[in-house]
Amino acid sequence: MTEVATGAESAREGAIVTCDACPVLCRIRLGRTGACDRYGNVEGVLTRMDPLVLAEKVIDQEGELVPFLANPEWQGGILSPSPQPARRHFLTGIGSGTTYPDYKPAPFIVASQHDGVDMVTVVTEGIFSYCGVKLKIDTDRYVGPEQAAVRADGEQVGHVTTAEYGSQMLAIGGVRHLTGGSKKEGAVACRTMLELCNKQPVALSVDGGATLEVQAGRPPVIDGVVEERMRVGCGSATIGIFAKQWHGHVDEVVVVDDHITGVLSEHQAGRFLELKPAGIRVRGRRSTPGRYFQVANPGSGWGGTDVSEPLSIIEAIDAKTAWPGLRLLMVSTTGEDAEYFVLDDGLKPVKAAMPEAVRKVVERIGENCEPALTSVLFMAGAGGSLRAGVTENPVMLTRSVKAALTRVTSGGAPVYVWPGGGITYMVDVMRMPDKAFGHVPTPAIVAPIEFTLRLEDYRELGGHMASLRQLEEVGRVDRLRVSAWHEGNPWPLDPQPRRG
Ligand code: SF4
Repeated sequence: MTEVATGAESAREGAIVTCDACPVLCRIRLGRTGACDRYGNVEGVLTRMDPLVLAEKVIDQEGELVPFLANPEWQGGILSPSPQPARRHFLTGIGSGTTYPDYKPAPFIVASQHDGVDMVTVVTEGIFSYCGVKLKIDTDRYVGPEQAAVRADGEQVGHVTTAEYGSQMLAIGGVRHLTGGSKKEGAVACRTMLELCNKQPVALSVDGGATLEVQAGRPPVIDGVVEERMRVGCGSATIGIFAKQWHGHVDEVVVVDDHITGVLSEHQAGRFLELKPAGIRVRGRRSTPGRYFQVANPGSGWGGTDVSEPLSIIEAIDAKTAWPGLRLLMVSTTGEDAEYFVLDDGLKPVKAAMPEAVRKVVERIGENCEPALTSVLFMAGAGGSLRAGVTENPVMLTRSVKAALTRVTSGGAPVYVWPGGGITYMVDVMRMPDKAFGHVPTPAIVAPIEFTLRLEDYRELGGHMASLRQLEEVGRVDRLRVSAWHEGNPWPLDPQPRRG
């Protein structure tokens, strides 16, 4: 580990150094690290303890991406001994250091050439108090009421927000939990966000709802049960998709769903197939023909309802319309729950063995369900002082980002920048290298961020030209770690479509 210009500076008093990378201003003794473990006192020198991450993309002679380390010529260095296969490098903000509140230029402002064009990448680790995590949990199981508190270690760290199609959504962290409550609430909220962003498992509980074990890119565990399938659609959509395949094999299908329960013979799809009305009325509020809201309470039973006995949602069977021998299928939106009934002479549904043709369609519902996953999106505002580390005139950076002259990435991953004011961005942590995030005890999250633009544009927006150095110089830093480029990510130095 060596002394590296990271933007942070030390004030030495004997063997103690003071870190000025964040407002905590830790006084660090020889051989120790500061409160966040990111900076340490190594032989009297303030040192960023984690390696700086350089992402490498290897391209063979045909222009194809070569899997990292699959190249036998690889020696561990960052400069290729031969021109083929070509290697491209991108310096990420991971391990770069911080300069909060950015009264100095960003830790690394690096020049490189791309397709004959001079480019600049400004690299830093942003310290964010305005940040949060959006969790998308692919399940129709009930996790708790909208707006309910989500807790970790008993502290509120977020809330249940509006569900999306096939998924429950949680908002975790945010400035109010980080800094607006008790010290413990802030610390637990910060740790929870950090673990989620670093792709680690986290245990949560929802007031009046479920217990959850969630981890980015893994199936959620709800009340101890691993969720395997995301529903194929709501009950109405399921009817629409499979109506034709059921036709001729059953007389009625009820698809049980917490959102919309579908009833085939009443539904537009059943009418199109000229199905005979079956006279089976389900509970709930009819929205449009064959589509019912609120047939039961939300829960972890059939189709995200609390139903474990499907016949309980049948309100009445109309003796004038139904007939003995009527074949009824009841199924959930994932196909995990399904039962087949035949009406007896008294028009009472009697459970029967499911015919093969009907079972095949039930299995096809399951086949069409995508695997249930937990997705973690980190969201933060980079429109504050962080911009001063990039340019003397911060609003120019905001405008440049909005005009798509400057590409924003986080650990090399593409971000979505929200419209309107500021540089409020979201990034999928699964597209970032592992352990890309850190924290400081203010409390706040530390996240890598890179701004890439043409050299001429950087000069024009008032960039810190005196701090510019070549990428090759950075490559000589001995605390560098080369990591494989995420193959699904666009190369940040490629031009991006310009906006108006
Ligand atoms: S918390 Fe970390 S970054 Fe902040 S002053 Fe202490 S060592 Fe430096």
